[in-house]
Amino acid sequence: MEKKPFVTLKQVEELVKTYPTPFYLYDEKGIRETARRVKEAFGWNPGYREYFAVKATPNPAILQILREEGFGADCSSYTELLLADAVGFKKEDIMFSSNVTPREDFALARRLGAVINLDDISHIDFLNEIAGIPETICCRYNPGGSFTIHNEIMDTPGEAKYGFTREQLTQGFRRLRELGAKRFGLHAFLASNTVENGYYPKLAGILFQTAVELAQETGIRPEFINLSGGVGIPYRPDQQPNDIYRIGEGVHKAFEEILVPAGLGDVAIYTEMGRFITGPYGCLISKVIHEKKTYRDYLGLDACAANLMRPAMYGAYHHITVLGKENAPCDHMYDVTGGLCENNDKFAINRMLPETQVGDYVVIHDAGAHGFSMGYNYNGKLRSAEVLWREDGSAQLIRRAETPMDYFATFDFTGLFSQEKGKRFILSDQELEAAASKK
Ligand SMILES: *Cc1c(COP(=O)(O)O)cnc(C)c1O
Repeated sequence: MEKKPFVTLKQVEELVKTYPTPFYLYDEKGIRETARRVKEAFGWNPGYREYFAVKATPNPAILQILREEGFGADCSSYTELLLADAVGFKKEDIMFSSNVTPREDFALARRLGAVINLDDISHIDFLNEIAGIPETICCRYNPGGSFTIHNEIMDTPGEAKYGFTREQLTQGFRRLRELGAKRFGLHAFLASNTVENGYYPKLAGILFQTAVELAQETGIRPEFINLSGGVGIPYRPDQQPNDIYRIGEGVHKAFEEILVPAGLGDVAIYTEMGRFITGPYGCLISKVIHEKKTYRDYLGLDACAANLMRPAMYGAYHHITVLGKENAPCDHMYDVTGGLCENNDKFAINRMLPETQVGDYVVIHDAGAHGFSMGYNYNGKLRSAEVLWREDGSAQLIRRAETPMDYFATFDFTGLFSQEKGKRFILSDQELEAAASKK
């Protein structure tokens, strides 16, 4: 299947007049449509709720859209909790699924009234000592071993740092009840970026069965089951996208087979998807600023791995479209690189693309989740702007690009890089524009 960007060259040429490359662009329409499909797919479950994984796209404008669609927010740190609160998510709109949790994070989660999802049995007493045990509490399960679908290993929970063992769940539920918990949930995240409609149904089967056993062992009936994230997207053009309706139906079937006969037919299903919701509806727009021919042909971009880390970190594939050359034959092989002093700073290796020139704009696809948010400042590279393509066709700046003064801000306390002094070394807007216009 061909991957088409959601913007054209003409539109990008218009956008760059206001927002210089590189920048992230998000498609509001795609995000809202996906949110609605997800709700529809799980509409059979009256208590269903999606808590969007904030870490995937931690931007208040995106979170606001998802709040309007009825989603909650899944946070994993102090700052994400503050962000969710600022956007208007209240109390049980917030899921707090953290690990190796600092004391102050638990204290804030309690103050906000978030639903706390504990990662470890030792966190029960830790939380109790800091802020007491809330009435509603959730435990994260790790069944160990390998997680397989159709005999194929999807991931190895036995090697993952997350979650309670099976025995610890039983002990943990009992201890939590002693300490005053009244409503219980069960959570697990066993495989990431699954492009396989069977993932959630298989995971649901495991969690539902475990819930039934826990109810028998402890007399505690779990009230919600959180399938977490992990529903993937087709990064490669030849991959078949997940069908969220089939996934919802698969979970429904497991629900009818396991929970309903056990008298647990009123359990609410929660999810914490990130990638599936925003991944395809965000891209990184960048400009080719150099071409280099040595032992390979290189296209050098004004974006680098500090803007999008997935290729460098996981060798992840991100499709690339050269704008305006969508229909040209892909008969040239390039490494597409950024400018970090790290040879893994390559968005693509040996990628067949149309013949490309300096000045061409490229779209790096499927960067809407775990893209901007994994950015960093290595080599003094600055984070880019984020722009939202609204449903009415207008563009809105939803995060400005960092400036050198942002980079200096954390050592400003010495006075060495005060606004005054810092400015002396920074080119003025006019000087920058003059440099940019000399082609
Ligand atoms: C990362 C994460 C998610 C979201 O994962 P996606 O792959 O983006 O769907 C959800 N829950 C937890 C606990 C996570 O760590």
